[in-house]
Amino acid sequence: MVEAVGAFPLIELRGVRKQYGGKGGEPAIEVLHGIDLAIHAGEFVALVGASGSGKSTLMHILGCLDRPSSGSYRFAGLDTATLNADELAWLRREAFGFVFQGYHLISTLDVQHNVQVPAVYRGTSVEERQARVTALLARLGLADRGDHRPNQLSGGQQQRVSIARALMNGGQVVLADEPTGALDSKSGTEVMALLNELADAGHTVILITHDGQVAAQAHRVVQISDGMIVRDSLSEQLNSVSLVAMPPLLDTRHFSERMAPGVLREAALLADAREAVTAAWRTLWVSRFRTMLTLIGIVIGVASVIVLTAVGQGSSQQMLQQMASVGHLNRMAVKLVPDEEHGQLGILTHADVRLVSEVPNIAIAAPTSLVSAVLRAGNASMSGDAYASTSGTLDLLNGHMAHGAFFTSEDERNLAAVAVLSKMVRERLFGEGVNPVGRHILVNNVPFLVVGELAETGHGDYDEQRIFIPFSTGAHRLIGRTNPELIQLKVADYEKAEQTAEAVAAVLERARGVRDVFIGNSATSLKNQREAARRQNLLVALVGGISLIVGGIGVMNIMLMAVKERTREIGIRMATGARQSDIQRQFLTEAVMVSLVGGAIGVAIGLAVGIALIFWDVAVIFSVRAILLAFGCAVATGLIFGFMPARQASRLDPVVALAGE
Ligand code: ADP
Ligand code: MG
Repeated sequence: MVEAVGAFPLIELRGVRKQYGGKGGEPAIEVLHGIDLAIHAGEFVALVGASGSGKSTLMHILGCLDRPSSGSYRFAGLDTATLNADELAWLRREAFGFVFQGYHLISTLDVQHNVQVPAVYRGTSVEERQARVTALLARLGLADRGDHRPNQLSGGQQQRVSIARALMNGGQVVLADEPTGALDSKSGTEVMALLNELADAGHTVILITHDGQVAAQAHRVVQISDGMIVRDSLSEQLNSVSLVAMPPLLDTRHFSERMAPGVLREAALLADAREAVTAAWRTLWVSRFRTMLTLIGIVIGVASVIVLTAVGQGSSQQMLQQMASVGHLNRMAVKLVPDEEHGQLGILTHADVRLVSEVPNIAIAAPTSLVSAVLRAGNASMSGDAYASTSGTLDLLNGHMAHGAFFTSEDERNLAAVAVLSKMVRERLFGEGVNPVGRHILVNNVPFLVVGELAETGHGDYDEQRIFIPFSTGAHRLIGRTNPELIQLKVADYEKAEQTAEAVAAVLERARGVRDVFIGNSATSLKNQREAARRQNLLVALVGGISLIVGGIGVMNIMLMAVKERTREIGIRMATGARQSDIQRQFLTEAVMVSLVGGAIGVAIGLAVGIALIFWDVAVIFSVRAILLAFGCAVATGLIFGFMPARQASRLDPVVALAGE
């Protein structure tokens, strides 16, 4: 009798009204018509009334899930109208514990994790959480049900789980809306016994029921009819002793400090992230088939980027190597073309050869003529071509000798009738595995001594029906004309091949007075090769980009569906104290997880396909940069396309969400 329960009631409603609708021309319906109600800490109050009388509406307001349309609600002396969404979430988390008629457990979580939810939002450490869950479940007779899913439990058991959840963060004020409504009488009695126990233990219990017998078990009965309080047993038994003996349960003294942003948060951020990831994983696992389907876009995007770049790089690398190995990149040729004015073919002279050989970056300038010839040795004969050029040809072709040696500059001076054979010619004239050096052949009936055999160069014509002879010999003995048909060139630096080709053309034009030569050079093909590679990269980016966008839309779709399907869950989470940012982070985490998994599968498939291609003799060069880029883009896709659904989820109204399917 001496000490009151603080200077003010824990809960104080004054003139609270609640209207629904009234938007868009629709008439507003007033459900609560000026409720005045004071509840002190430690009371066990039953709000009783017929269905539709406004009990649940009142409870939503009491539990800070909803705000009054007018009137004031002070909780522990605080005007709740001044609190923002996060502060209301804080109150729900710290002060209230909800028990609903339909239990409202999260179906994808097992019992333990359902009970833990409020503590996760509070930032309690994992160890502490687990210890508390174990204790609560033991106390509620659910010790062996921790890893069951809600749908594996009876209604009475589910309701006890929801009571455990209500008590997880302390549950100073337990708000129970028709907690026995869906239960058989035995389970209902058990639940009522629990609520009685809680009341005896000092919790403030507000029980909502339409059943007068259930209400009678409370210490105080408040009757509601049509949105108004019509009877309150407190006024009949005023100054109840039990009421005064209760100590204040919610420490409101440092309220504002504890409300400050960041308190309890920073330390728990890492645990939070881990929790978000495991929660996301759990829900994705439940709908894994659908998730897999959604992932296809991302998987294809990432895998195709990896495979296409690997094959592209492999083939262009291979092509460059081939070109370089046959000296193709360094080689150019000056050929005559009919000049524009006369339409006639001019002639190339040895003076032209000398001029060209003085152009910078020209390493070799070899006068060359080609003549078709019948090649014979003994009884064997074939048609081929005699390639008459200088001794520099071996160097020009980056060639190697299979047998003997290439002819020398001395042979050129002496008009020596010597020839070097390609492998094919040797095989056709002398057979397999024969060293032709020292043998004789007839070239258009002119006898030549074979001095060597060229190893395969890898470059078409040079490996086929071709023999190599000194230019002078060819000119005098076979062709009867000393002017070269073309000038073969080798440049020192193939990166400068293009400028060199231009310089050669310019020098010749100046000397000859007309532009009647064509410089065939591989710089152009190199350039084409690079251009092709660039175009291919663009194509790869396009394919990857389109797949990722498709994948992203898939992610957005699955997340929008998730938000719709899990509206109730979002409501439950909000009721247990989740901030908007918690909800947003949860859904964003799920979106990123989806794309992360998709990206990882894509990388795995891309690598597997690439490796498989290696066994098929396809040149493959994996690019770490492309792999990281594709993976990064996949994750970014999740972030970008997950943002909208996540924000939509976080903006839901708690009451509306709770009522959702
Ligand atoms: P009780 O819990 O006592 O059965 P409620 O508080 O759920 O009653 O509902 C009281 C009245 O308010 C009912 O007539 C109901 O139709 C109306 N009502 C409840 N919620 C809404 C809402 N979101 N929009 C419009 N009317 C509502
Ligand atoms: Mg109701």
